Amino acid sequence: MERRTLPGRLSWQLAEVVATQAETARTRSITLDLPTWMGHRAGQHVDVRLTAEDGYQAERSYSIASPPEEAPRVTLTVERLDDGEVSPYLTEELRVGDKLELRGPIGGYFVWEAQMGGPLLLVAGGSGIVPLMAMLRHRAAAGGSVATRLLDSSRSYADIIYRDELDRLVKNTTMLEVVHTLTRAQPPGWTGYHRRIDPEMLREVAWSSDQRPLTFVCGPTPFVETAAASLVTLGHDPARIKTERFGPTGEA
Ligand SMILES: Cc1cc2nc3c(=O)[nH]c(=O)nc-3n(C[C@H](O)[C@H](O)[C@H](O)COP(=O)(O)OP(=O)(O)OC[C@H]3O[C@@H](n4cnc5c(N)ncnc54)[C@H](O)[C@@H]3O)c2cc1C
Repeated sequence: MERRTLPGRLSWQLAEVVATQAETARTRSITLDLPTWMGHRAGQHVDVRLTAEDGYQAERSYSIASPPEEAPRVTLTVERLDDGEVSPYLTEELRVGDKLELRGPIGGYFVWEAQMGGPLLLVAGGSGIVPLMAMLRHRAAAGGSVATRLLDSSRSYADIIYRDELDRLVKNTTMLEVVHTLTRAQPPGWTGYHRRIDPEMLREVAWSSDQRPLTFVCGPTPFVETAAASLVTLGHDPARIKTERFGPTGEA
């Protein structure tokens, strides 16, 4: 009998860059065409591997920003860390037509699918919005009306990733509320929150614990720990709070 090896989610595959788009001054979305992509669920991530001419390799994880409905195209959104090894290349150097090595989708825990229901509470710090945006895009594509709230923490108004698309989603879909907090600078006349996420803010924005929201928290490690601990303090069931930390890849 003929034996064939099927391309699996843990084999590296070559993705071609088909579009790039600046989201903010420090973040860029990269849309990839993946001929052998086996599909993904909102919230999953991929590993990207870069190889230098001398053979040196660097690998990093990036969440998938696009919904499953757009497969076999996959969009990542990368924030540039000026002293970083990989993110400056992905945000500044990569061009349409370039190829990237990628494997995935990875992760089965930090995942939301429309049939999982809600209410759905999403808490994002900076680029932690990326996998949560995949959930919102999937919710919209599936025509879902699950009651959903996003609490999105950014440094300033100009740093809000997907700002216009979030505004459009609020206008064009039902039962979605988006609340921003701007931690470092606020535009004139800003009436929203202007501090880091704390228990008081979560008490005001999240549903009460007896409504048992299904919660996804994503962002830098200290942000995720504060937000999750605050929710537990407010009486939310830890089993309903899923977290994803964007610390350096491989961090414990
Ligand atoms: C599951 C997962 C999903 C991720 N998804 C995304 C995503 O969608 N978009 C995105 O932009 N990033 C994401 N990240 C982070 C990403 O993997 C890299 O860590 C990030 O791009 C930095 O890589 P670098 O090579 O540029 O920096 P490095 O050369 O690795 O690090 C440079 C400096 O920055 C610090 N550092 C590294 N990572 C971070 C970080 N995330 N925040 C603050 N400081 C950091 C390091 O300690 C070091 O001082 C994700 C990480 C994980 C684990």
